[in-house]
Amino acid sequence: MQTIDNFNFAGKKAIVRVDFNVPLNKETGAVSDDTRIRGALPTIKKILADGGAVILMSHMGRPKQNPDPKFSLKQILSTVEERLGQKIQFAEDCANADAQAAALKAGEVLLLENLRFYEEEEGKPRGEFASDEAKKEAKKALKEKQKEFAQKLASYADVYVNDAFGTAHRAHASTAVIADYFSDENKMFGFLINSELKAMDKVLTDAKAPFTAIMGGAKVSDKIMIIENLLDRVQNLIIGGGMTYTFIKAQGGKIGNSLCEDDKLELALGILEKAKIKGVNVYIPTDAVNADKFAADANTCISKTNETPDGWMGLDIADETIAKFSEVIANSKTVLWNGPMGVFEMDKFAKGTSAVAHAVAKATANGAFTLIGGGDSVAAINKNKLADKVSYVSTGGGAMLEYMEGKVLPGIAAIRGK
Ligand code: AMP
Repeated sequence: MQTIDNFNFAGKKAIVRVDFNVPLNKETGAVSDDTRIRGALPTIKKILADGGAVILMSHMGRPKQNPDPKFSLKQILSTVEERLGQKIQFAEDCANADAQAAALKAGEVLLLENLRFYEEEEGKPRGEFASDEAKKEAKKALKEKQKEFAQKLASYADVYVNDAFGTAHRAHASTAVIADYFSDENKMFGFLINSELKAMDKVLTDAKAPFTAIMGGAKVSDKIMIIENLLDRVQNLIIGGGMTYTFIKAQGGKIGNSLCEDDKLELALGILEKAKIKGVNVYIPTDAVNADKFAADANTCISKTNETPDGWMGLDIADETIAKFSEVIANSKTVLWNGPMGVFEMDKFAKGTSAVAHAVAKATANGAFTLIGGGDSVAAINKNKLADKVSYVSTGGGAMLEYMEGKVLPGIAAIRGK
């Protein structure tokens, strides 16, 4: 497999798939979080420093037509220029940038307009269909057009670099199909994807014991696959967040109005059974901060998680649980954290998630390798200003989850093979 470190881009044009799907301030239109732009800089700078030219391509949001000014990448052009420290050319139509790409010189950068202005990018036909059959036919026809679209993008450059980890789990034109139009020597991952893979592989294949997985968030159904995959690898499994109550109810506890997936009770029991067989310690919250409504100004009370009073719902873990979780985490040598312990967006229910963030930082200080992934746990780490106190913060929520589930990601397979 070709690697970016070994490749000399001198005299080459590289088309780089980046993830510039950044949030914009609704009032001013300014980039409100530039993490993803900064994440792409090492790859862009290496190509330019070698004496190559860079063609950047990305999606932004979910446009429904072409063009769709609300989702134009032109809005972020000046921010990218500022972070990179040089002028960038802009191609108004990503599928008709031949002349601009051809004229691009060493050291220059061209940003293509939003790839998703074309339905070919995702390969999902837009519009209404008279029947499922008609939609299927349209999808089949679009598959062919997707190949042409990918080939067109490929024609702009000599080399393909994929550095968009956030979309690596999608089999789109720019993330996977395009790789077919480059030889093995001329396609590679960028530095961001490389570091994401290194961090995830360390946890999946080279974890030092005790390895603790902390799974939070709203639903068991979203996390079931990753939990199943991790049961073969971890010594400790910590459950938190809304999914707690599916486990509590499955074991006969009283959960009041707490979030619960009634059709997943058997599944929850199955996880506990499997964990027992594999010798994994499972830690489920024992006490909670309850609310009388799902609101920031709700009244609160503390109870055992299996004795939630009628009319109340558990929205955060309470002190006994915080103490136990913190102890388990701080004594771990490997930690993977995905999903908050409570409704941390509301201050009254943020304490448990903050405590876990601090425990993960403490474990890191004690020499553990700690990986944080998933939009909300990353937000929690940032909110607590601990991003530089943990080993690795993943930039890809869905992609990271799928990789940790043991799935093959199309964007990864397109370059590395299965
Ligand atoms: P996820 O995207 O699955 O990681 O879920 C994150 C969401 O779960 C956040 O928006 C939290 O507010 C929510 N959440 C966490 N704990 C609870 C809880 N006990 N009840 C309801 N929602 C929760």
